[in-house]
Amino acid sequence: MESTLELYEQNVIPSYGRFPLVLERGEGSRVWDETGKEYLDFGAGIAVCSVGHCHPRVAEAISRQARKLVHCSNLYYNRPQGELARRLVGYAGHPGKVFFGNSGAEANDGLYNLARKYGNEARSPLSRHAAGERLEYAPNRFEVITFDGSFHGRTLGGIAATGQEKVKKGFEPIPVGFPHVPFNDVPELVRAIGPETVAILMEPIQGEIGVLPATRAFLKAVRALCDEHGLLLMFDEVQCGLGRTGDWCAWQTLTGGEIIPDAISWAKGIAGGFPMGAFWVRDRKIALKNGGEISLADLLGPGSHGSTFGGTPLACTVANEVLTIIEDEGLLANAREMGAYAKSAVEALGSPLIRAVRGVGLMMAIELIPDFSARLGDTRPASQALIARLHAAGLLCIPSGAQSIRWLPPLNVTRAEIDRAVEILRNALT
Ligand SMILES: *Cc1c(COP(=O)(O)O)cnc(C)c1O
Repeated sequence: MESTLELYEQNVIPSYGRFPLVLERGEGSRVWDETGKEYLDFGAGIAVCSVGHCHPRVAEAISRQARKLVHCSNLYYNRPQGELARRLVGYAGHPGKVFFGNSGAEANDGLYNLARKYGNEARSPLSRHAAGERLEYAPNRFEVITFDGSFHGRTLGGIAATGQEKVKKGFEPIPVGFPHVPFNDVPELVRAIGPETVAILMEPIQGEIGVLPATRAFLKAVRALCDEHGLLLMFDEVQCGLGRTGDWCAWQTLTGGEIIPDAISWAKGIAGGFPMGAFWVRDRKIALKNGGEISLADLLGPGSHGSTFGGTPLACTVANEVLTIIEDEGLLANAREMGAYAKSAVEALGSPLIRAVRGVGLMMAIELIPDFSARLGDTRPASQALIARLHAAGLLCIPSGAQSIRWLPPLNVTRAEIDRAVEILRNALT
């Protein structure tokens, strides 16, 4: 019989750099591989299994709904979708409406469509003459500004929006309309806003490149610029949202809720591992070119956007259950407490091989010193070299570029599990 790795070698498109681990089952923060070896999963899949692996209430919700109704087309209504939408509107904290898809990239694709539709159908602001400069807004604005180091997914739109060359490489020509500017840099952003700009899309905390939060001042400045120029402020909360930072929304953690975005995308942890993506659009009046007025939340009207699998009764039931567990088990508070505990425990290691520990709640990166691999006599990049050692010792975590690893454990991770992970890390660093 072929091994699992051989089955992949022969039959699965090799688009991922995979670690040689075959995972077979999980429970809470732990997973076991095919040989029966146990690991602490401090990746939670990849920021996905928000209430841990195989939570009994989630397993029960899946099987209950699977026996009732798995799928019905969006030609019809289903109760769980309506209830989940109401719940997510509540988490956003402001009136709005939600669309359901199946992944982060798909949720973000919906945001680009929203921005395009807004650019085509909303009335652009009047031209401005300020301090000697003149900004004449185009009648059909379409550019979505994103940031260097961002990650927005692997569809063609996602590749265009993502501010990392390595993601675009080989897929040229890249669709136009997604200029990138440096993160947390207000003057550069001001310079980038032009006649065609229609929206700004950002991760409140950049995930893939090493857990970099936007500053409170930057977030407030971005909101003010969007108001000034009539742009949509769209947050990609696919990784940082729905509890990871200790609040339902990362921007709430970062700003104390001082600003309101126009749209938010979610995915990863939303249904605890069941595939789902969603985006919320704020209910606010916009002026249309034809002279009318409409709520932004109703701009994607009948026939304008869709998804065969989006918002099935099964997926929505699972998401409702996962989010109820986060509420019932007090996991926002746990994310705050355990996040702070993990961060100070790693800092307390005082390892000369660690350059910095960054984190907000249970979204944390450990950045290694530049000559980490050289010091260990390892030819791999620092993150790979460390992760190989952690895997051998029974701890799964996620690389973040070449120099950092990420800890994104389930939101119900315990103090004892963090102690264990820190112990494994200590041993790997000595
Ligand atoms: C993972 C991720 C995506 C892409 O989500 P998929 O479900 O893989 O399509 C988009 N944005 C951010 C911030 C992410 O972390």
